[in-house]
Parts: sequence; structure tokens; C-alpha cells
Amino acid sequence: MTLLPTPVAAFGYLLAAICFIVAIKGLASPRTARRGNLIGAAGAALALAVVLLSTEFAGANLAIVLVTIAAGAVVSVPVARRVAITDMPQLVAIFNGIGGGAAALIGLIELTQHEVLGVQGDAMAGTAIATGIAIGSLTLVGSLVTFLKLQGWMTARPVVLPGAPVLFGAAVIGTIAGAAVVAATGQVWWGVVVLVVAGALGVLLVLPVGGADVPIVISLLNATTGLAIIGTGWAVDNVLLLVAGTLIGAAGTMLTLAMARGMGRSVSGILFGALRGSSTAGSTQASDRPVRSATPEDVAVALGYARRVVVVPGYGLAVAQAQHVVAELVDALRERGVDAVYGIHPVAGRMPGHMNVLLAEANVGYELLVEAGEVNPTMPSTDVVVVVGANDVVNPAARTEPSAPIYGMPIIDAEAAGQVFFLKRSMRPGFAGIENELLYSAKTQVLFGDAKDSLAAVHAALKTV
Ligand code: NDP
Repeated sequence: MTLLPTPVAAFGYLLAAICFIVAIKGLASPRTARRGNLIGAAGAALALAVVLLSTEFAGANLAIVLVTIAAGAVVSVPVARRVAITDMPQLVAIFNGIGGGAAALIGLIELTQHEVLGVQGDAMAGTAIATGIAIGSLTLVGSLVTFLKLQGWMTARPVVLPGAPVLFGAAVIGTIAGAAVVAATGQVWWGVVVLVVAGALGVLLVLPVGGADVPIVISLLNATTGLAIIGTGWAVDNVLLLVAGTLIGAAGTMLTLAMARGMGRSVSGILFGALRGSSTAGSTQASDRPVRSATPEDVAVALGYARRVVVVPGYGLAVAQAQHVVAELVDALRERGVDAVYGIHPVAGRMPGHMNVLLAEANVGYELLVEAGEVNPTMPSTDVVVVVGANDVVNPAARTEPSAPIYGMPIIDAEAAGQVFFLKRSMRPGFAGIENELLYSAKTQVLFGDAKDSLAAVHAALKTV
């Protein structure tokens, strides 16, 4: 006897599915993202409540489920609240991996039931279970490796094991063959074999990916989580899991393609580039070539007398947490009648929408955020570009250096403006690890220092201009 009759539970699932769809739609724009997130969380809470109220729990199972939920909340809530925005990709990697791991575990548990019942004759259920185990395990282990890379607990450079292509091919064949045996026989031990071999495949898939490509792989693993959840949903006959898995799979795939396009790279190049011999991670050494340095007063004078200014924020803005200070400076310029806007590159920072999120925190109006494609035609008529903690996204090598890892990536055309100021701490390169010739251009000056301090000093100096 359950508290919720089946039709009511089905209606609850429908409402939760609608919440998920509305949430994804909301996440598509910074304006509605916060609301989208809340609607998605409400959908998940509703789904959880429906499961608990419509399931008949034997013995102490309900208590175990409730304790597990409480333990998950006790761990995840403080972690999610405290995580720095620059560490968000790692958090997503871990959450993602857990989703895949859960799908794999459910698959194994289902297999124990099916072994009892006999899966023969139910090829569909067997295939769904095998898919959930294989892709779930690949996602879990692959996500853990990306976490280690992003957290700096292992090298972020591509790691190519000796004989990697052969090992990779063997792991693919082993996973597919093992999954086929699971689908045909329903034997739990074959499920364990698939779990292990697919986990190894996850390691082999992610190890050769390095540098700027690692966060893209997280997005790809997000898509595979969706596939694993679809398998689980089919296996346990749960429509909501099918809907959620499809949404996650589709959203992850679209995000992966959008990020790859933003960087001018192909997904196969990202996954297999290192196996073919091209590496994506460059140097972290500071260059010793001389540059013209500027003082905060120099920058303030140039800004104070400009008609149009474009501020190009990047990863360093997030590191310095300078979003409020930059917003104050841009506001001050606009109050003086300067046409000051932000030039937003799609992959500035370390996650999609990173700059939008940061600047939204500082209540910057969306009308001031101009996408790369729209801001570039205005660059020749722009007097001053202030590059705040950005580097790769304004690096002309993306257009001129076919050997550069960022070659083909669309950039913000800062070099077309009248004058360029870089606000950075040193002559270290950006994420791609390559020289930026714009730093040495006759129209460029560098204001060295932490972006927050530099911007505050420029703002103070502007008051005297
Ligand atoms: P970059 O990593 O190219 O450059 C960041 C710059 O910020 C560096 O020059 C660094 O120089 C400076 N910096 C760091 N900390 C501070 C600080 N506290 N104050 C001032 N400056 C600071 O960043 P971009 O945003 O230009 O480019 C993003 C890169 O990340 C691209 O290569 C992109 O492909 C990659 N990427 C982006 C993803 C996304 O989705 N957004 C995902 C994955 C990768 P210094 O150390 O000298 O201060």
C-alpha cells in the first residue's frame, strides 16, 4: 500500500518533467538562469517526493533511503555553497560523475533482480541495463580523472600512455562485447566486468585530453550521463528518468558543440588530438620580452578622454574577484559620457557564461554586455580597449598562427582599436600557454598588478582627470 495512487504519481512525474524542460529553457539566458535553476531544483524535489510516496518500502529500506538523502545533503550543500566560482568546473565534474556512478549501480542492482527472474527473452531490458552500467561507469571514472586534472592534483597536460590507441581500441571492443553478453545473459558477474572495462575506457578517453579542452570533456561526460540515465530509466521503467536523461544528454551535447565551436576546435580533435600527436597545453613560463608598462594614471587619462571604450574581461577577472570594481569603473565612465561597454567572448574564463555570471553578480545591465561578433565591427571606432585578466581571447595568433593551439578560435579584435591596455600580474601566458603578440604591439601598454587593485587605482585616478 503506497500513499500516492499510480495516476497521481504519474501526474507528479509529468509536472516534474515540465519543470525540467522549463528549467533548461530558463538556463539559456543569464536573465532567466537563476529562476531556471530554482524551477529545476523544485522539479527534482517534486520527483523525489513522488518516488518516496509512491514506493512500497520493505523493512528498514525507507530509513536507509532517508539517511542516504540526508548524508548527501550534509556533504553537498556546504561544498556547493563554498566553492569558488573559478572551481565550478571541478564541482560540475564531480556531480556529473556521481550521476553516472548512480546509473551504473542501479544497473548492477537491476541485474541481480533480472538474474533471479531470468533476463533471457527481455533483450530490451538487458540492453538498457548494460548501457546504464557501461556508460555510467565510463562517466564516473572519466569525470574523476577530469576532476583531478582541473584541481591540479595531476598534470593538466595530455597524458598519452604507450600503445594508447591499441589499449583504447581494446577497451572499446571489450566494453561493447561485455555489454552484449550482459544483455544476452543478464549475469551479474558480466555486469561487474563491464563496469571495470568501461571504467578503464573512461580513463583512456580522458587522459590524452589536456589544457583548455578539459572543461569541454566535462560537458561531453555530462551528455554521457544523460545516456546512462536513459538506460537506467528504461531498465527500471521510469518515465521521468527517460525524460531527464534525454534532456541532460541533449543539453550536454549542445553545450559541448557550442564550446568546441567557441574555441574553433572539433570534438574529435579534442578527444583524439593528443593521440594523433598534437598537444593542446602550452607553456606556463613568463616571457622576458620587453613591453611598455603603464601606470593607473596613464590608463585613467586615456579612458577619461575616450569617446568609446570596450572592456574585455577574462579569467583573471574571476581570479581577482574584480567584478564589482570593474562595474564601478565602467559606470563612472558612462556617467562622464563615455560609451563604455563590455566585450564578451564565448569562452572567456573557464566555463560557458563565466563572464556573464560574474558581471551579473555586480548588477551589470545585460545591454552593456556585447558579444564578440557584435563588438568586433565597432573596434576600429573604439578609442581604448581595456583587457582585464584576459589573454587568449584577444590573441591574434588565433588568426595568424596555424600551429597555435587556439588557431581558428574567434577572438575579440582588440588590436583594431586605437589603444590597448592589458591589466595582468605578470608576463605569464593565458590558458593556451602561448605568446600574445598584441602585448608587444606599439599601441599596447600593460598595467601590472592584481586586476582588482589596478582597477581601483584607475578608478581613483579617473576622479582627478
Ligand atoms: P586566459 O587564461 O587566456 O588569460 C587569463 C589572464 O588573466 C592571464 O593573462 C593572467 O595573467 C591573468 N590573470 C590571472 N589572474 C589575475 C589577477 N588576479 N589579476 C589580473 N590578471 C590576472 O583567459 P581568457 O579568459 O582570455 O581565455 C580563456 C581561456 O580558457 C581560453 O584559452 C579558453 O579556450 C579556455 N577555456 C575556456 C572555457 C570556457 O568555457 N570559458 C572552458 C575551457 C577552457 P597573469 O598570470 O600574468 O596575471
